Amino acid sequence: MMSKKDYYEILEVGKTASADELKKAYRRLAMQYHPDRNAGNAEAETRFKEINEAYEVLKDEQKRAAYDRYGHAAFEQGGGANPFDFNFGGAGGFADIFSEVFSEFMGGGSQRNYNPSGAVNGEDLRYDLTITLEEAYSGLEKNIVFNTTKSCDKCNGHGTKDGKEAPVCPTCRGKGRVHQQHGFMIMETTCPDCRGSGRKVKDVCPECRGTGYIADKKELKIKIPCGVDDGTRIRIAGEGAAGIRGGRNGDLYVFVNVKGHKLYERQGSDLYARIPVSMACAALGGCVEIPSVDGRKLELKIPAGTQNGHRLKIKNEGMPRLRSEQKGDLWVEVKVETPVNLSARQKELLEEFRAISGEDNCQPEEKSFFEKIKDLFTAA
Ligand SMILES: [Zn+2]
Ligand SMILES: [Zn+2]
Repeated sequence: MMSKKDYYEILEVGKTASADELKKAYRRLAMQYHPDRNAGNAEAETRFKEINEAYEVLKDEQKRAAYDRYGHAAFEQGGGANPFDFNFGGAGGFADIFSEVFSEFMGGGSQRNYNPSGAVNGEDLRYDLTITLEEAYSGLEKNIVFNTTKSCDKCNGHGTKDGKEAPVCPTCRGKGRVHQQHGFMIMETTCPDCRGSGRKVKDVCPECRGTGYIADKKELKIKIPCGVDDGTRIRIAGEGAAGIRGGRNGDLYVFVNVKGHKLYERQGSDLYARIPVSMACAALGGCVEIPSVDGRKLELKIPAGTQNGHRLKIKNEGMPRLRSEQKGDLWVEVKVETPVNLSARQKELLEEFRAISGEDNCQPEEKSFFEKIKDLFTAA
């Protein structure tokens, strides 16, 4: 597989660059490699694409966090292993980011995606959901309540006092965008007169102050699939802020945070636990009971002669794999505990044990160790 260039390297910034530094770097590089300035230069074109791609990811706090955590793998589609459901592209694309950054740069800037029919698309929303490992194991349904916006009822989203469609903006003739010449570059920017809506409202709706939308609270039942991992982002299409004047709704992104567990640590679909075992149990063999994530009793056989740090596997008792019937494994690390606070009787038995264990082979590692180093005792 070809390795992709690091997004931070592409933008020539450090991993800790602020949003502002990113934007500055993007502007500088996008100007430098813009096709208008580099006609026929394929290398510049590639660079320009890379710059746009890198910036599209890093400018978005959520995508950036995912990139920092998983690298390019965070955005690779398909393959099952990818816990993300990212939705790139759509109506956006590079031209949009470019004009977005530059129009903002020139004092314009529209918050919402412009649509020539006067429709405005709703924003994507983020909801952070913290769940337990047990919930991640079994999957869950949950009612969530979140703040969003909807089309203003008073003016039907037109932002006008009379609730009728506002007249077309004379500056951009309803396009929402104007062209501006900057040196040799012509750039499309948001119309400063109508702020991109393409409509010029004279008497403003008092309810929404002319924006066409009002605050709203929404309740939604969401389904979290079993096997979901910490940092997973689930896209729920169309459940973001409502579009107005016929625009489409934004999407809701549920960011799942899985809490730490008392006993288990998770790595992918495998679980890890550390269990203390008595010296006698480790030497003679025995059985310990541990709870599975869903609370069943799991019997773990400790074979005779188990050493400290030894890992035992219980198959299929890990976490469910996303979109699969399979489960990971459970690994138990045995921590052999040396007995303390011995009674006189216990001491007596151990002394006796020591006395008869000198010559035989019950501590083979110890024996070979001292065998191996005995020539190091060279002082008289
Ligand atoms: Zn306009
Ligand atoms: Zn209104």
